[in-house]
Order: sequence, then C-alpha cells, then structure tokens
Amino acid sequence: MMSGKKKNGRPGIVGSVLTNKCPRCREGALFINPNPYVLRMTMHMPENCPVCGQKFELQTGFYFGTGYVSYGITIILSALTLVLWWFTIGIGIKDNRIWWWLLSNAALLVLLQPYLQRLARSIWIAIFVKYDKNRDREQLNA
Ligand SMILES: [Zn+2]
Repeated sequence: MMSGKKKNGRPGIVGSVLTNKCPRCREGALFINPNPYVLRMTMHMPENCPVCGQKFELQTGFYFGTGYVSYGITIILSALTLVLWWFTIGIGIKDNRIWWWLLSNAALLVLLQPYLQRLARSIWIAIFVKYDKNRDREQLNA
C-alpha cells in the first residue's frame, strides 16, 4: 500500500525518499543544491520545506542518528555488491578476487558517499515526519 504508488502526481514514500523530498509534502527538496557532488553544499538543507513549511531540523542534533542509517545502507550495499561479484567475477580460495571485491566495494562506497549521506538523512526524517494527506486535499481545492 505504501510503496511506490503515485497519488496526485506525488511520488510514493520510496520515490520520495530516494529523490530526497520533504516527507510531509513529498514535493519540496530537502537539500538546497540538487547535485550532491557539489561537496561544500552536500549537506546544506533549508530550515523549512520551501513547499509546505515543514521544519527539517526537528531538534538540535536531529541528524546525529543518521549514522546508524548510513551504517545499515553500507552493509546492505556491500552485501549486494558481494553477491553481484560472486555471480559475475566469482570468489575463489586460491586467488585474491575477494580482495579485489573489498577494494572495489570500498571505492564504490567512497564515490557514493555524498549521495548516501543525503539518502541517510532522507530516510531518517521520513521515519519521524509522516506524509500529510490533508495537505494534498487543501492544495487540490485551492
Ligand atoms: Zn514539504
């Protein structure tokens, strides 16, 4: 029910989280610069959602908890690349393919870091801020 289903042209919760949208209206952007690789802007967020006014830093230090989320994402991603590596390149006990996986995986994680950091915040705020359907109705009637 809650997955990628579109209502009123707004993304579902998965699409909303993946594209770093405000969890309340799923329209406003969580980050000021849409490109996470402009590194000095990576974690810059507006104080409030530009569309619905939702506060983005719910309390001081709100985003400290994202460390756990990043950790979880890192584990899941590494498991995925390991499985992928296993089926394409393979892993043997007599060679060092496993070490190449470790290196490649580490490099991938570093490259994806700006995106993953944003994703972790996006997931984190979506846990605490629920989608506001009534806001949708207001907008439709307006
Ligand atoms: Zn919003």
